[in-house]
Amino acid sequence: MIDTLPIHTQVTTASRLTELDPAHIEFGKIFSDHMLVVDYHDGAWQEPHLVPYGDMAVSPANSALHYGQAIFEGLKAYHQADGGVALFRPLDNFHRLNASAARMCMPPLPEELFMQGLKELIKLDAAWVPDAPGAALYVRPFMFATDGFIGVRPSDSYRFVIFTCPVGVYYTKPLRVRFEQQFVRSAEGGAGYAKAAGNYGGAMYPSKLAQEEGYHQLLWTDASAHQYVEESGTMNVVFVIDGCLITPALSTSILDGVTRRSVLQLARDWDIPVEERRISSLEVVAALQAGTLQEAFGVGTAATIATIATIGHMGHDYDLPTPAADALSRRISAALEAIRTGTGEDAHRWMVPV
Ligand SMILES: *Cc1c(COP(=O)(O)O)cnc(C)c1O
Repeated sequence: MIDTLPIHTQVTTASRLTELDPAHIEFGKIFSDHMLVVDYHDGAWQEPHLVPYGDMAVSPANSALHYGQAIFEGLKAYHQADGGVALFRPLDNFHRLNASAARMCMPPLPEELFMQGLKELIKLDAAWVPDAPGAALYVRPFMFATDGFIGVRPSDSYRFVIFTCPVGVYYTKPLRVRFEQQFVRSAEGGAGYAKAAGNYGGAMYPSKLAQEEGYHQLLWTDASAHQYVEESGTMNVVFVIDGCLITPALSTSILDGVTRRSVLQLARDWDIPVEERRISSLEVVAALQAGTLQEAFGVGTAATIATIATIGHMGHDYDLPTPAADALSRRISAALEAIRTGTGEDAHRWMVPV
């Protein structure tokens, strides 16, 4: 690793760490003491700064607020069995951030800036990484336009920020989901593959309607036929039918999840048949009716694996069997947890120590 980048560091004089109760951490509400801030202007990334976490002043005319020129990432750092801290596949997030940036006409970040800034931030706030089983430090990198200009064109200046939040065990009740066949999250040729801010704002209304009907989230379908499964909420989705792991193939409308990638790799390592292809709501319903749909689960950084218990289709709810102790979703969960905490073999070198 190149260790030459100077990072201006202003250490907080008022740490909030003593206010943290590791037994009661509410997701996304508690922020660690520091954040990384890097500005881009005059065609170049400027010096990075580590500063106390806090509010920041921006122009009310910036194009992130008006036109959604804003992108983000999400990854986690884990306390290791040997006492250290390590990140799960951070370079995958780095590459996806730059893919999102390209789609939104934003400048790419240099790898050293991302990686070194990230590592220094986590070293500085290492005491905030919870060590309870299943807990982690959630890391939120993001970039937004900062020009004070309301014309509709890419901004000339940007800010890149990383802050972190300790998160407890992400306990999810088995999910109730339903197919969404009217509203769409994203369309082929759109920006669904990017972690661009507007994708999430636009998904809130259909999700809210489903929640009012008693579902936790949606099973999004494609924008033209409203038939083929895309994702579940803000997670990728996996079905196990007749012992075969099936997930929608990637496209410009689907987010290329790091958890998805990891789950597919583990299944292939274990010689489980894997299919990345189109899968329709009718195929899922037919498998539910035939009893061949053994498991369905969402996969993403926040929950890792979120078991689906019920799938709604055209006003009818289909219940899935409760996953057995040796169910694939449970084996995958356990294997990923072991890799992330340094207790299992990391055959693909996914963990990066800070
Ligand atoms: C972030 C995200 C995912 C999951 O990606 P991970 O890298 O596994 O966290 C899936 N779908 C959408 C829409 C997302 O925003």
